Amino acid sequence: MTEYYQKIRSVDIQKVAEYLGIAVTKWNKAICPFHDDKDPSLSFKNNRYRCFGCGSKGSTIDLVMEVLKMDIPNAAAWIASRFGIPIPDRKNSRPFAFTTQKVSPTLPSPAAAGKSSGGVKVETQYFEVYETFMSLLAENSGEKWVKQRGFPEGLAVTYSIRSIYSPTLVVAALREKFSEDILLSSGVLAVPKDKGAPYLNWGTGWIMLPIRGVGENEGRIVFLQGRNPLPEGKPRFKEISGGFQRPLFWTNAAKEIPEGEDLILVEGIPDALAAEYLGYPAVAILGVEALSDAIIRSLLPWRIKLAADMDSAGRIFSVAAAERFEEMGRFATIMELPSDAKDWNDLLKQTLNIC
Ligand SMILES: [Zn+2]
Repeated sequence: MTEYYQKIRSVDIQKVAEYLGIAVTKWNKAICPFHDDKDPSLSFKNNRYRCFGCGSKGSTIDLVMEVLKMDIPNAAAWIASRFGIPIPDRKNSRPFAFTTQKVSPTLPSPAAAGKSSGGVKVETQYFEVYETFMSLLAENSGEKWVKQRGFPEGLAVTYSIRSIYSPTLVVAALREKFSEDILLSSGVLAVPKDKGAPYLNWGTGWIMLPIRGVGENEGRIVFLQGRNPLPEGKPRFKEISGGFQRPLFWTNAAKEIPEGEDLILVEGIPDALAAEYLGYPAVAILGVEALSDAIIRSLLPWRIKLAADMDSAGRIFSVAAAERFEEMGRFATIMELPSDAKDWNDLLKQTLNIC
């Protein structure tokens, strides 16, 4: 680990500064980013920086930490990923790869990835299936789940979060309105491995989180995610079947944010809801591997702050995601959660206990 940090510290500090948008003059000086500087007061010497105006000084890692408000591991990883230094494996880090989503070849994606969904042909009949499906679940049936997570009362109604009381009744009602083909291809019904009779993709007690479209599909339910009612149950969640592209989940607060403003990108709907409740406009990707190029492109108009889980897997994700935003010409910053919160839900619980 020490060797890794030595490598990071020996990266040319002026190149690091330039990556951070600090213009270095030919006399190895720059306008200081830490105080209201008129003449270049920041100088670089022995691969360290020092400001004669405000006294700030340090190494490559300190510079990144101060400018981007990161902790040491994130600042080091930020530099490592830009200068080809391998990031050592950390405990509990789960490998992940950004893959292009599997899209069923015969089916259009039911959901456009983001606000700019121009040109994407959507199967609005699927939306009708999802809307009918949600309308068959009782309006207040998600409140218990919402309360357990520390969310305010009424959130289940605002976001139409509902639970399944009887899969049999739901399937019967859906079959009255839609053909078996549509129910299967929309991913609401699934076929068992033994090719037996199709069944509802989620069981009794599952919590259903509908994802509404933005842009041309504003307000329509474009995707469904079910969450296991058992806190430790596996799988934790299950989406419509069929390998559809997973869209972004926009909180209501995020939908109101004008382009150019800060937008928080988190992983998972509960974290987005927690962030919104804590006053941060958030959008959620449904799993780190759902961050497709189309989704990144749809987020480019905003200033993205990446706020994945505060563990090494989350950190590795954030650094890799920041890199991909940069490849598309935008700078996404990595956001640290205050205190020792593991994620947004944890932060919400801590905040509620203190208040
Ligand atoms: Zn200064």
